[in-house]
Amino acid sequence: MTSSRIPGFYNMTVKERRALLREAFSLTDAETQNLSNADALTIGKADNMIENVIGTYQLPFGLGLNFLINGKEYVIPMAIEEASVVASASHVAKIVREAGGFQTESKERLMIGQIQVVGCPDFQEAKQQILHQKDTLMAAADNAYPSIVHRGGGVKDLDVRILNEEDASSYSKMLVMHIYVDTCDAMGANMINTMVESIAPIVEEITKGKVYLRILSNYADRSLATAKCMIPPHLLKTGSFAGEEVRDGVIHAYEFAASDPYRAVTHNKGVMNGIDPVVIATGNDWRAVEAGAHAYAARNGQYGSMTKWSKDEEGNLVGEIELPMSIGTVGGATRVHPLAGFSLSIMHIESAEELAQVIVAVGLAQNLGALKALATDGIQKGHMALHSRSVAIAGGATGEMIDVIAKQLVEQQEIRVGKAKELVEQYKK
Ligand code: NDP
Repeated sequence: MTSSRIPGFYNMTVKERRALLREAFSLTDAETQNLSNADALTIGKADNMIENVIGTYQLPFGLGLNFLINGKEYVIPMAIEEASVVASASHVAKIVREAGGFQTESKERLMIGQIQVVGCPDFQEAKQQILHQKDTLMAAADNAYPSIVHRGGGVKDLDVRILNEEDASSYSKMLVMHIYVDTCDAMGANMINTMVESIAPIVEEITKGKVYLRILSNYADRSLATAKCMIPPHLLKTGSFAGEEVRDGVIHAYEFAASDPYRAVTHNKGVMNGIDPVVIATGNDWRAVEAGAHAYAARNGQYGSMTKWSKDEEGNLVGEIELPMSIGTVGGATRVHPLAGFSLSIMHIESAEELAQVIVAVGLAQNLGALKALATDGIQKGHMALHSRSVAIAGGATGEMIDVIAKQLVEQQEIRVGKAKELVEQYKK
């Protein structure tokens, strides 16, 4: 695959899309089979993944197209039930590629493990002793998971805080130790939990307190990924809106989210519309990513926007996003779910760091898609037209009837299930 531009992909049948992919990505028979097999995740595998299994649950699996990130072409697998998300991401990616694409980077990739200690006879002394024995503690944590050290990762730093120092309550006063771990290409939850559990007895000995919690923190603010794009206004022009108008509307929309949590939550839901489908498609833990992203949006004391939109001196629209990305390309379900491995391979992802950057770029694209629609025609026009097929199905349409009813719903500007039921009855007569 030399380009992520695949004109006409939207109008192809599923069979034609699969054939094109097979050709373009030199897919193996097994990979092609997985795409067309409803049981790609076998019941046997599923039964080993979680408890009390009774089946598998499927989601639509589509491709975000047109992405150009750091000069590299990406077709991006997205697993999501909501109409218009994939179309909107692809639409914005097409605009951004004409402006040079997304620029992304990762500052560092350290995951955090926490140990909670209570009941220290002298908290300040306990803190000093931990810092004094920092090297010993870090080495002990590395020894608990030597394979990650052999891969070039392992514990890179350690720090310690005292929380609620002035409180009289023995419940709220505590010492919290962090280890910062380079987990290489793994998300690292299990390896970090192994490390913190293993060094807890040493921490108790040093602090003379009692350790309670020993667990990864999902607030992965030492594992940040950033993406940026810069779009000249002429690329933002729509039928009835000048590019400058669209640009200004997007900036106003951003300022609204930056100032008002009621708006920020919806704004950020739109960002996660892009992020979650890629996280899910690659077999990653989307609850971890969601929790970290929302916490980071509140890092300044008020819940705000996950993205930033502004205008540069030349009048270009500048979009930025920075989020914690606790994801991996190995471990967890990434190598168990057959479609997760497939997703990573068609993106030609080489590291967890690269995947994190791709994911935030999709989040930024998705956000612009929503803001652009909101600042111009409103979200319903495009969204409901794409949603019309789901509404037709909910109204009882099947087979060839689906497209006919969906078209009628759009033409009659009444995209609702009650109307679809009426039209289905008429069609049957
Ligand atoms: P794993 O426990 O599967 O560990 C990853 C494994 O990948 C390592 O054991 C390592 O094995 C192997 N590996 C192979 N190649 C590499 C590489 N290049 N870099 C790093 N490791 C490599 O997964 P994680 O520790 O990542 O944990 C993720 C899972 O934990 C997710 O399923 C998540 O849902 C779950 N989880 C999440 C929690 C949370 O978010 N709070 C809490 C608990 C679990 P070796 O080095 O031995 O070869």
